[in-house]
Amino acid sequence: MKFNNMMNYMKKFYRMIHKDHPRTLIYTIFGGIIHGIIPFISLYYSSKIIDSLLLSDTDSAIVRIVIMLSLVLILGCIDRAIYQALTVIADASYYSVWKQTSHKAYVMEYEEFEKTETMDKIRRAQNGSIGSGGVESQILDTHTMIGLLVSVFMSFIFTIQLFVRGIYSDNFIFYSCVIIFLFIVFFIFVNLVQKRMNQYEIELNHRNEHGNSISSYFISICLDVKNGKDIRLFKMTDMLLQIYKNIIDYVNKTFYDYAYKSGKDNAVIAFFTQLLAGFVYIYVGVSVLDGNISIGDVLLYTGAITSLATNLNQFIAQYNGVAYRFEYLGNFEEFISSKNMHYDGTLPIEKRDDHEYEFEFRNVSFKYPNTDHYVLRNINLKLNVNNRIAIVGQNGAGKTTLIKLLCRLYEPTEGEILLNGINIEKYDYEEYTRIFSVVFQDFRLFPLPLDENIAGSEEVDEERCLEVLDQVGLKEKVMNWPQQQKTRLYKNLGDGINVSGGEAQKIAIARALYKDAPFVIMDEPTAALDPIAESEIYENFNELIHNKTAIFISHRMSSCKFCDEIIVFQDGEIIQHGTHNELVEQEGLYHELWNAQAQYYA
Ligand code: ADP
Repeated sequence: MKFNNMMNYMKKFYRMIHKDHPRTLIYTIFGGIIHGIIPFISLYYSSKIIDSLLLSDTDSAIVRIVIMLSLVLILGCIDRAIYQALTVIADASYYSVWKQTSHKAYVMEYEEFEKTETMDKIRRAQNGSIGSGGVESQILDTHTMIGLLVSVFMSFIFTIQLFVRGIYSDNFIFYSCVIIFLFIVFFIFVNLVQKRMNQYEIELNHRNEHGNSISSYFISICLDVKNGKDIRLFKMTDMLLQIYKNIIDYVNKTFYDYAYKSGKDNAVIAFFTQLLAGFVYIYVGVSVLDGNISIGDVLLYTGAITSLATNLNQFIAQYNGVAYRFEYLGNFEEFISSKNMHYDGTLPIEKRDDHEYEFEFRNVSFKYPNTDHYVLRNINLKLNVNNRIAIVGQNGAGKTTLIKLLCRLYEPTEGEILLNGINIEKYDYEEYTRIFSVVFQDFRLFPLPLDENIAGSEEVDEERCLEVLDQVGLKEKVMNWPQQQKTRLYKNLGDGINVSGGEAQKIAIARALYKDAPFVIMDEPTAALDPIAESEIYENFNELIHNKTAIFISHRMSSCKFCDEIIVFQDGEIIQHGTHNELVEQEGLYHELWNAQAQYYA
C-alpha cells in the first residue's frame, strides 16, 4: 500500500478511536518511541563501560553503569506502564468501535442500512480482520511498528558512525562497498519476500472471508434457543454439523497452506540475515585490527548493524500487516462517518392537542432499492384525522410497504407524502417518528425487564406501564411474575421469563399504547392472539385508541367492521376504498375476502 494511503487510513482509524479514547494516539507514538530507544541505551553504554574497564578507568565505568541503569529503569517503567495502558485501551476500543457502529446502524436511514452493500461493508470489516486480528491488535501492532521504525533509525545512525570512523582506513572502500552492497541486496530481497508473504496473507483472508461469515452465521443458528425445536424435530443436527465441518475443513486447509508458504519464506529471510551478520562481524573485526574502533565499539557496531538487518526485516513485515489491516478497518470509519439521512429536514412537528395530523399520499410509487419491480403504484390517498382505517389485501399486495414509507423507513421512488400539506422529508426525522406508535408484524422484544421493553428506555413511568398492561389484559398475569413488571423477558441475558407468541404480541401492543403517539399503526396486531383475547382487544379498541388516528392491517375481516374506512390493495394498487357496508355490497376483492372468511362461521 502506498505510504499516503496508509497515512490516510491511519488518520481515519485514530479519529474513530479518539472519540472514546483520546489518549490512544499519543500513547501509541510516545510508547513506540521509548520502546524503540531502550535497547540502544543498553547497547551504547555497555560498549562504553567495556572500554572504561579495559582502560582500568573504574570511576567512569561506575558513572556509566549508573547512567545506563537509571535510564533503562526509568524508561523501562514508562514503557511498561504505557504498554499496559495501551493493552487496556486496545481491548476497550474494540467495544467502542462496535458501540459506534451499532449506534450508526440505528441512526442512519433504514433504507441505506438494509442495503446489501452496507451490510457487506460491515461484514468485511468484521470478518476480514478476524484472521489477522481486529481493532485491538491494530493498536498494539501500530505501537510495535513505531518502535521498530525507531530501532531502524537508531541502528542506522550507529552504523553510519562506523563508516565515518573507518573512512581513513586502507580497506575502508572495499569493505564498505561490500557491506553497503549486501545491505541493499538484503533490503530489496526482504522487501520482495515480505510482499509475497503479505500477498499470501491477503489471499488467506480473502479466501476465508466467506467461510468466516458463514461460520459465524452457523454458530449463531446453532446457539439460538429459538432454533432448538426445529433442529431437533426435523433431525437437522447432522446436516448442519456437516455443512459446518466442510467450512472448517476448507478454512483449516487455507491456514495450513499459508503456514507452509510463509514458514519457508521466513526461513529464507533468517538465513540471509545470518549471512549478512557474518559479513558484519568480519568488517568490524577488520576495523578493530586497523585500530579504527575500540573493543567496546565491537559490541556497539555489531549490535547496531545486526539490529538494523533484523529490525528492518521486522519493520517491513509489521508495516505490511498494519497497512493491510487498516484497509479493512477503514470500512468501520467509512460506515460511522457516512451521512445519516439522504435528506433530513429541519421543520419541527407542531404539537397539537387536537391531533390534527393529516397525511396525504400524492402519486406515490415505490420499488425497493436494487429491485426493478414496483411494489406500490400511483397511490393517491388521504388519511383522515381521528379515523380508524383498515388496510386489507392479499399477501404481498404492498400494505406493509405503505406503512414503511409513511414511517420514513424508505423514500418514495416517485411522488410525495405530505403531512398537513408539507412533504414529510422536510420535517426533522427524530420529531417526525415521535408521532407514530407502530406494531409491525415482525416486532421485536428484547431480553430486558418488561417495563423497559414497554417504555423503550430505563426511565419508566411505572403507573402508566401497569395501565397499558391492564388495557391489553396482561396486568394480572404480570403481577404473578417473580419481579412483576420488572421481570426480565427471555433468558439470553440471564434469568428471565419466556413469553408465548400471544403474550409477546400483547406486550408489543402495550408498548405502542405507552408511547401515546397521535398516530397508531398496527400490522396484523392480533395474529397470535387467541379468539377471546382478540375479541377483547377489538372490543376495547375505541377506548384504547381514544382520540387518535389508527391504521390496521389485518386479515381478520371481522376487525374491519368497526373501522371508518377500508382501503383494499391488490398488486401495489388501491383498488377499492370505502366503508365496510359500501364495500361488502360491491362486487370486488373486499366482498370476496369477506365471504371467504364468513363462510367458515356461517
Ligand atoms: P403485504 O404487507 O401486503 O403482505 P409487503 O408490503 O410486505 O406486502 O410486500 C410487498 C412486496 O414487496 C412483496 O412482493 C415483498 O416480497 C416485497 N418486499 C418486501 N420487503 C422487501 C425488501 N426489503 N426488499 C425487497 N422486496 C421487498
